[in-house]
Amino acid sequence: MGQLNTFPLSYKVQGQRIVILGGGEEALNKARLVTKTTAQVVIISRHIEADFSGFAVEQVERAFALADLDNTALLFVAEQSEDADRAKAEARARGIPLNVVDVPAECDFYTPSIVDRAPLSVAISTEGDAPVLARLVRARIEAMLSPRLGKIASLAGGLRKAAESLIHDGAARRRFYEALVTSPEIEAAELKGQGRDAAEALLVRHANAESQGVVWLIGAGPGSEDLLTLRAQRLLQEADVIVHDQLVPAVVVDMGRRDAERIDVGKAKGHHSFSQAQINTLIVRLAGQGKRVARLKSGDPMIFGRAGEEISALRKAGIHYQIVPGISAALAAAADTATPVTLRKVSSGFVMATAHGADDSELAHWASLAQSGLTLALYMGKSISADVAARLIAHGAVSTLPVGIVVNAGRADKSTYSGTLSALAAGQVAFSEGPAIIFVGEAVEAGDWADAAQLAGMSFKVA
Ligand code: SAH
Repeated sequence: MGQLNTFPLSYKVQGQRIVILGGGEEALNKARLVTKTTAQVVIISRHIEADFSGFAVEQVERAFALADLDNTALLFVAEQSEDADRAKAEARARGIPLNVVDVPAECDFYTPSIVDRAPLSVAISTEGDAPVLARLVRARIEAMLSPRLGKIASLAGGLRKAAESLIHDGAARRRFYEALVTSPEIEAAELKGQGRDAAEALLVRHANAESQGVVWLIGAGPGSEDLLTLRAQRLLQEADVIVHDQLVPAVVVDMGRRDAERIDVGKAKGHHSFSQAQINTLIVRLAGQGKRVARLKSGDPMIFGRAGEEISALRKAGIHYQIVPGISAALAAAADTATPVTLRKVSSGFVMATAHGADDSELAHWASLAQSGLTLALYMGKSISADVAARLIAHGAVSTLPVGIVVNAGRADKSTYSGTLSALAAGQVAFSEGPAIIFVGEAVEAGDWADAAQLAGMSFKVA
């Protein structure tokens, strides 16, 4: 199970020929790929029809001759002809690996999809019929790797000796290289031809900071790995320790470096395994040991994330920190349901509020905000939703105000509910497992709630 029938490898072609037999579009496609190498690429066909002028290839418009395969590393056959059959037989006789375009059964090798950052290359191969998958993965990798990564990698090579003498700790040196190849500053400097200077400055900074830790307060988004920001992903890869909440699912925590330490401070409702004070102490202690700490929080760290307390503890201890924003649950819920939480002439604002622990004066305040046309997004309110809805009505919110609820927003297993404030107050719905956002306000009606379960059997359209 899960074994490959082919083995991906890098094959030496330098100083040799790569022969493409054929002169049409398919030959052109192969030429595009193999001209990324330093090999001498030769196109052979009696009829060269495609326009190869943009590529460094030799065009030979005549019949195939056996000597064409002298000093040849690879043969591509991209036409059906007698010449093609002779070329295939000759390649087999000489043991030259052969690729017959679109005939997998005749191929000794397949060409991968390539992300080219010479001297670095990333090859993506799929077996069987999964080209869509390869394209998808390639697009992701292209987005992840700066177009100038190759140049920057060469800078790293040039600084190896200096890095070894200035930074003694292996892990710290690795962090320098990681920062070098991922930092937007270096990229910008490289663009202006000042890459080398910037790289040296970075090295000096890292050498000085060798023993200094840092805490990154990172928003993990609502719980799907592709709703993480690129910055969050990069810092997760750099972290020595990942301190995460229970609401951050394993797929996201797993995006950290494989050998990073992971600490679950699991603050799920009813399981206060770490107090906030203990978490503050923990991150200060870890960073104080010189570690790079990714403090991973669900959604956005500044919204109901106790970031305030953690930041003040870090400030007090003189620890460096940086905040990385994330997609807050309410925004994911709005996206899931195509609900414009602000809407011209309907809702002039959007309030993120906590339902949990809200006292009467707060509820009175929100009731009047909802009445004045703002959309409420209530966090931490699922288990007390009926009570909160009833209290909002008691404080003056109209009972027919539209309500929409998204459980597990931004995730594959989301579920949605819609109705009115009074229907929610009736408390007759058993919500599915998971965290929830409760929207209240007229703008909710503009969303796409067609698939939502009805609260107390009563839709806001009817009400
Ligand atoms: N910082 C987080 C909020 C943490 S408080 C953010 O910005 O999203 C925890 C509350 O967030 C939960 O009780 C729930 O109301 C909400 N929440 C977190 N993840 C959610 C998700 N995937 N779907 C719906 N609500 C979510």
